Amino acid sequence: MVKQRVALRGHHLICLNFYQGEGYSSAFIKNLNRILKKLKKAEGLVIEGPDEVCSSCPHLKEAECCFQPNSNEVIEYLDKLALRLLNLKAGDAFIFKKIKSQLPRLIEEWERKACLDCNWRYVCLPLIGQLKKVKEVKS
Ligand code: SF4
Repeated sequence: MVKQRVALRGHHLICLNFYQGEGYSSAFIKNLNRILKKLKKAEGLVIEGPDEVCSSCPHLKEAECCFQPNSNEVIEYLDKLALRLLNLKAGDAFIFKKIKSQLPRLIEEWERKACLDCNWRYVCLPLIGQLKKVKEVKS
């Protein structure tokens, strides 16, 4: 039987690395846990637009992110930024472990351009700080 690939949009390839069990609803959190479990065993597929994470999100309305008035534009910008930093495009396969290994290389630009206005930054910034320290020690 062919394993079904996890379909993710650009920014989720980076943001899921900082997931700490929080989310918009219990259904959303349950889905995130399922996705992350699946990503340990199966390869993923990069897609454009709403993905398997968005599918259980209460802010997805008519295939658009409606978290805030301009969210869809912001999310599309973040998707493009993430794919550029990861050198991936829609239709590419990915291994989540390999994405994780690229974070030290790209995290400073990602933090500067993506994290500072994000509502979830209180979850991620301490972890990003740790990642940057590891990078400093290695270099
Ligand atoms: S907030 Fe927007 S981008 Fe994030 S999961 Fe929900 S619909 Fe998708």
